[in-house]
Amino acid sequence: MNRPMRISDILTFAEDAHPGAEIVSATVEGGLHRTTYGDIGPRIRQLANALTGIGVKLGDRVATLAWNGYRHFELYYAISGIGAVCHTINPRLSAEQMTYIVNHSGDTVLFIDLTFVPIVEALADQFPENLRYVIMTDRAHMPETSLKNVLCYEELLATGSPDIEWPEFPEDTASGLCYTSGTTGNPKGVLFSHRSTVLHALMCGVSFQKGICPGRRLMPVVPLFHANAWGMPYVSPLVGASLIFPGPHLDGKSVFDLMDGEGVNSGWGVPTVWLGLLEEVEARGRMPKGFDEVIVGGSAAPRSMIETFENQGVTVCHAWGMTEMSPIGTQGILTPPFTELPKEQQIDLKAKQGRRTFGVDLKIVDEEGNVLPKDGKATGELFVRGNAIIKGYYENPEATAEAMDADGWFGTGDVASINPDGFLTLTDRAKDLIKSGGEWISSIDVENMAMAHPDVANCAVIAVPHPKWAERPLLVVVPVAGVTPDTASILAHLATHLAKWQVPDDVVYVADLPLTATGKVSKMTLRQKRAAQEL
Ligand code: ADP
Repeated sequence: MNRPMRISDILTFAEDAHPGAEIVSATVEGGLHRTTYGDIGPRIRQLANALTGIGVKLGDRVATLAWNGYRHFELYYAISGIGAVCHTINPRLSAEQMTYIVNHSGDTVLFIDLTFVPIVEALADQFPENLRYVIMTDRAHMPETSLKNVLCYEELLATGSPDIEWPEFPEDTASGLCYTSGTTGNPKGVLFSHRSTVLHALMCGVSFQKGICPGRRLMPVVPLFHANAWGMPYVSPLVGASLIFPGPHLDGKSVFDLMDGEGVNSGWGVPTVWLGLLEEVEARGRMPKGFDEVIVGGSAAPRSMIETFENQGVTVCHAWGMTEMSPIGTQGILTPPFTELPKEQQIDLKAKQGRRTFGVDLKIVDEEGNVLPKDGKATGELFVRGNAIIKGYYENPEATAEAMDADGWFGTGDVASINPDGFLTLTDRAKDLIKSGGEWISSIDVENMAMAHPDVANCAVIAVPHPKWAERPLLVVVPVAGVTPDTASILAHLATHLAKWQVPDDVVYVADLPLTATGKVSKMTLRQKRAAQEL
């Protein structure tokens, strides 16, 4: 039979097969909330009916601005279940970026966690006039708000019946939308379908066999607003693993306490989060109880971090992917014969970005597009092809044309080598972006803003390594002749357009910028100079 793949089938399957597996959430209101796949199913059906009741239709975009918690999980399934598109918004974006994406995506309803109500209040007059707002709490916790068209989540949900016949539609119907930062201009929309999402969940299920299986307790520290929390909200119910959601508390101490209290076996997140946890581990002299596996991605896992975890009995799996890939592309679980290697060599392998998962093809190419050998030496831009990878950006033909090659492969903007065993090593980044604590900063955007400052004649922004945030932006400025530039004033100017964490930490001044053969600013030379302490 040619039955279409549907996300709602994951939910109904989990209700049948794994009704007792838990969803535990640290809530914004305070305290822990506990439920199970068996108990959350009826609430999701109520929410789906309630959404239909307020006019949400097939294809409508319904946005969320929320932490990792059970209500956000409910929205993932209720919205996509009725054929609408769950648009997860990253609350860390600048006001300008957020305004752009709410308007570009044409959201009709915006669900907001209590924490983010002030952000939305400040931007509401730039959002579509008929956008409806739902605050994700109960009546007792509803805040005073200047927002119009506001509903209370629990009250809205209560209007829906728990009975539903989940609708059928073609499996390539859109189910999710997530914007990712571009090198220039506005963020680009990545649209997921029911087919890509279900296939990705199945791919993760077979790839992470130790980490994701019935009875395991998994903690996505990676946000639900970031690349589907790496697929965990879909694969966990599918296999019957419990989900422990950290809510708004992502510092080392809170993550440790929740992991320890809930017996989390496997944690998923960016290196910055795990560095925070490791500080706490050192202070307490032990790992959280039951913790035996950590999945690190989003930025390169430092070798020292891998060693620290492995030496204390926590297996490290270093993964690589992109929002555009749903997002998992590779993973670094060692299988025979690599498990027979001496420990040091195993750690060397784990410091690489892993091997491809099923459904993902990798190739590296030179500047003319010629495919390079997988010999572990040749480096080139990494292109991917697969079943859960975008065919283009949402309503953005220019960005799409730039990203795809003539054979339909997607250009990742990462520069890499692949060794004969299939291990990927990222060596550089062709895209002009900086990744700080797992979030993007566009160098070009910061440069454009800096150029508008009267002291700046020319400038470049480069990534510099940072022990906690992986990378931080550094602004390199050629001052206007005869002017003594004012660093504080330049940074204050940037802060008016950027989110606080996107503002460079420092400005260095140079007489001129190094250029490449084609006359572009050579960021590589600047990075090398910085590394050699010449900047
Ligand atoms: P995510 O952070 O969830 O992987 P994004 O789309 O925000 O998704 O970022 C993808 C980019 O992040 C990759 O193209 C790469 O530049 C970088 N990245 C992801 N994982 C790794 C990793 N393990 N090592 C180095 N860089 C990584």
